[in-house]
Amino acid sequence: MLRVSMSDTDDSPTPNSRPANETMRALVLHGPRDARVDRVAVPQPALGELLVRIELAGICGTDGELAAGTMAYFARGLTHFPLRPGHEWTGTVVAAGSASEGLWVGCRVVGDTMLGCGTCPACRGGRHHVCRQRREVGITDGWLGALSEYAVVPTRFAHYVPDSVAAEAAVLVEPGANALRAVRAAESRPGSTLLILGDGTIGLLAALFAVDAGAEVTVCGLRPDRLALAGRIGARHTLTTDTASQLPRSSYDAVLDATDDSASPASALDLVRPGGRVALIGLAERSSTIDTRDLVLSDVAAVGILSGSPALADTLRAYASGLDPTPVVGDIIALTDVPVRLAGLTSSGPGPKTLVDPWR
Ligand SMILES: [Zn+2]
Ligand SMILES: [Zn+2]
Repeated sequence: MLRVSMSDTDDSPTPNSRPANETMRALVLHGPRDARVDRVAVPQPALGELLVRIELAGICGTDGELAAGTMAYFARGLTHFPLRPGHEWTGTVVAAGSASEGLWVGCRVVGDTMLGCGTCPACRGGRHHVCRQRREVGITDGWLGALSEYAVVPTRFAHYVPDSVAAEAAVLVEPGANALRAVRAAESRPGSTLLILGDGTIGLLAALFAVDAGAEVTVCGLRPDRLALAGRIGARHTLTTDTASQLPRSSYDAVLDATDDSASPASALDLVRPGGRVALIGLAERSSTIDTRDLVLSDVAAVGILSGSPALADTLRAYASGLDPTPVVGDIIALTDVPVRLAGLTSSGPGPKTLVDPWR
């Protein structure tokens, strides 16, 4: 976690400068397909917490599943309506729970989605994203999301955003970190070949990181405009899913599945070379089937990626040093437009990612 000391300029916010208005607008999911913008109390930071004025938030497939009531966590009892979504966000700290944390006031931040307990072996080993007691911001019960004007983040899960990273990039740190971990799982390196299945935000951000790592990237997706975007990001080859049968079998050093298609993991296994790697980050509604004998007989390593948490800091560093994720942004909408967007989840621009300005 990064910290900075604040300069004593006259216009910098004072610690614990509470918002003048004690209520705010927030997206509330009251039940399946019943999303509304409500006026709610501005949360107040307790000890170990920061209050953030949200500048931009993102919405993704998980938010769509939460809004529809189809997300797997409902069936497992991990989340319940009403709930307040929003796990991709950036903003400025306006108040802190203690005087020492007041150093954060005025800092631009992003936050981890996975709030581990901090004491279990997973947390102590740097794997708090798989902590059994974790809360997931805006997803599980226990921590409100950030599709609202203000949100609270635990101080230990806040990451400082340098001025060189614009808000439109900072809000893409969470999905970018997921993509970066998937690319690392694929062990992309100069000259290696990576096939990415999926042209959504994660697929395109994975293309960005893999190209940056020097890999020769192929993207296979559904939409020609997204594939054109993949080409502009640096993918060497692009093709639509209906022509995927042209892809050479058993030839890619690594294949990354970033789709929600239950048939895709088996395709990935079919396309990776012997001794290669398959990185799985997509989630289908139905279970996907792969024949594990194919893994054994081809000596293939398959890796699942749940979260971007361990790569948030590296993603911020990559953006700060000039890697630009903003081409994936399709549009920026108002909070009041989110319910309709969650029902359809298609941005109006060529980029797949919809951002939300809660102050519009
Ligand atoms: Zn997300
Ligand atoms: Zn833990």
